[in-house]
Amino acid sequence: MTDRAKDYDAIVVGAGIAGSGMAAALAGQGWRTLLLDRGRLPQHKACGEFLSPESADSLAWLGCEGLAERLGAVPITRVRLLASGGAELSFSLRSPAQGISRFALDEALREDAAAKGADIRAGVTVREIRPLPEGGWAVETDGEDGPASLLARAAFGAWGRQRAPGRPASLRQDGREGSVSVRGRAPGRIGRKTQLEGVPLTDAVELYLFDGGYAGVAPVEGGRTNVAAVLDARLGRSGALRGSEWLEAVAARHPPLADRLAGGRPVTGSDSSAAPIRPSRDPVAWGAVPHIGDAAIVVPPLCGDGMAMALRSVRLCAPLADAYLRGAVSLDGWRDAYARALRREFRAPARRGGLLQAALLQPRLAAALLRAGALAPGIAAQLFHATRVGEAPPPR
Ligand SMILES: Cc1cc2nc3c(=O)[nH]c(=O)nc-3n(C[C@H](O)[C@H](O)[C@H](O)COP(=O)(O)OP(=O)(O)OC[C@H]3O[C@@H](n4cnc5c(N)ncnc54)[C@H](O)[C@@H]3O)c2cc1C
Repeated sequence: MTDRAKDYDAIVVGAGIAGSGMAAALAGQGWRTLLLDRGRLPQHKACGEFLSPESADSLAWLGCEGLAERLGAVPITRVRLLASGGAELSFSLRSPAQGISRFALDEALREDAAAKGADIRAGVTVREIRPLPEGGWAVETDGEDGPASLLARAAFGAWGRQRAPGRPASLRQDGREGSVSVRGRAPGRIGRKTQLEGVPLTDAVELYLFDGGYAGVAPVEGGRTNVAAVLDARLGRSGALRGSEWLEAVAARHPPLADRLAGGRPVTGSDSSAAPIRPSRDPVAWGAVPHIGDAAIVVPPLCGDGMAMALRSVRLCAPLADAYLRGAVSLDGWRDAYARALRREFRAPARRGGLLQAALLQPRLAAALLRAGALAPGIAAQLFHATRVGEAPPPR
């Protein structure tokens, strides 16, 4: 491969948590790194904004220890689950989580990547990524300045839940380079999020379960409360789900949630939605390029560990990418080691999380589980912790 011909050592597609973390890790090693995002940045994202305790060690690994705290994050020490019929369960987290907006957190991670030397371009959509026969990748983009073709020695898919650039809407990658398989039949759920002012703050993340989905309520910086919901297709199709009106439709299904949010004022511009949401069964480490974050695995949002997993995937992939760029490991070696690491760390917690979310989204079962959990909160806390990335079984 003639490196002289390559514009960058690394191009990272998607400047969310995973992409910015990867760009920071590679630029920090001295690699010429470009981070691209199709959105206008910074932006609000459909997310519960519960930064789980499992994120802390990956942030520290990136040199961003205490970042959320510096941004004014609110410590969260408890989880409260409330069924619409009145059953309730509460337990303590093993160590504090942070309530922090994606608007602030993603921007801070991008700033960190820029400070370490990464070039960042927003408003640039990647249309296609092609491995080149002589090694490296061609990245086809479209932005304000029109289409462009960039060459990189390594490229990374950090495009979140969206399909890979250049892939038809109904198909997804199945993990084998260049091949595709038909996506699952179940209709995806949709995600909504709005921040509110004027809602009393607590030290808990609260999950309100109702027929048709759930809503997560978490305190974030600046005295605001973030409300994020995952809703089934019935509610998603409802005409009431425009702007922040979705909050009223959802609160009508859960009287304690309506009481909790009473008097809250939606923060203009904070609404965001995401669709479809289809948690993955297994990680897909690699398509045409290595995948990180949600591009590799979408974990059930109810578990609130997606950001931690996104950061962990960076931590697993970046050292291998660095070794590849140094010529210390082959492309096949990188791909195999990364796929093994993702399976080892993510498979079990993602599956347990899927089971937990599926159970809690069935109103009667959820109520029964909360009542049983209230009798044995220690066991309930253990179940919750088993869905976390840090709790995956050790490698065999
Ligand atoms: C409703 C909901 C609630 C959630 N709550 C929580 C929670 O409380 N805690 C938690 O830890 N996790 C939560 N999650 C999960 C969490 O939001 C994700 O795991 C996390 O956003 C993954 O980060 P990422 O960087 O992989 O992807 P993203 O943050 O989605 O970033 C992907 C980026 O790629 C860009 N992009 C996409 N395609 C292209 C392209 N072709 N060209 C250029 N750019 C492109 C997008 O613009 C985007 O900025 C929730 C998710 C949902 C949907």
